[in-house]
Amino acid sequence: MNPWIAKAVVLAATLIMISIRAPHGRRCRNVKVARSHKTPLETGLLVLVWAGFFVPLIWIASPAFAFAEYPLRSGPLVAGVACFVTGLWLFYRSHADLGTNWSITLEIREQHRLITEGVYRRIRHPMYSALVLYSLGHALVIPNWVAGPSNLVAFMILFALRIRPEEKMMAAEFGSEYTAYAARTRRLVPGIW
Ligand code: SAH
Repeated sequence: MNPWIAKAVVLAATLIMISIRAPHGRRCRNVKVARSHKTPLETGLLVLVWAGFFVPLIWIASPAFAFAEYPLRSGPLVAGVACFVTGLWLFYRSHADLGTNWSITLEIREQHRLITEGVYRRIRHPMYSALVLYSLGHALVIPNWVAGPSNLVAFMILFALRIRPEEKMMAAEFGSEYTAYAARTRRLVPGIW
């Protein structure tokens, strides 16, 4: 199959993800940060995620990763589109449910509320689950060994190193309310993990 099909799918998914995140980011910036838990490790992780985000765009626009290309097949393409659709839906829902309590890093905003409803009812990190689905979409749709897994690798490293400090921060902020919430929910996959 023509790799431009994959390029069009990835570009469309990227534009949808930006159109969900950008207005939300603007709304959140109006609410002051009360306590920042941003460490140098967090800064490094964010740089890594940005790199993972740009590699597929470089693949679309240039032949830089031509050495790692393989043929595009319909099976992975269809599976990847399904991951994009569910991932982007969950990304949209988690932003809507989290409201202005969202931050790109570990921060507590003024009048921060603990959200336990909507897509947060059964899992504590639906936005991260959405990003796993979204980056799986890249890995399946992009027929390239470098550009395909770049998002997935970056997010896996971010989540491996961020989820624990984030939960520690939330427990310190919300005490028994968060402990009880954590006890009745899973991290990323409802009922499983
Ligand atoms: N880990 C969550 C949120 C990602 S955004 C998810 O995957 O859906 C990261 C910020 O969200 C953190 O800095 C924290 O301030 C905030 N946060 C995380 N879980 C929250 C919750 N249940 N309610 C309110 N804010 C939360």
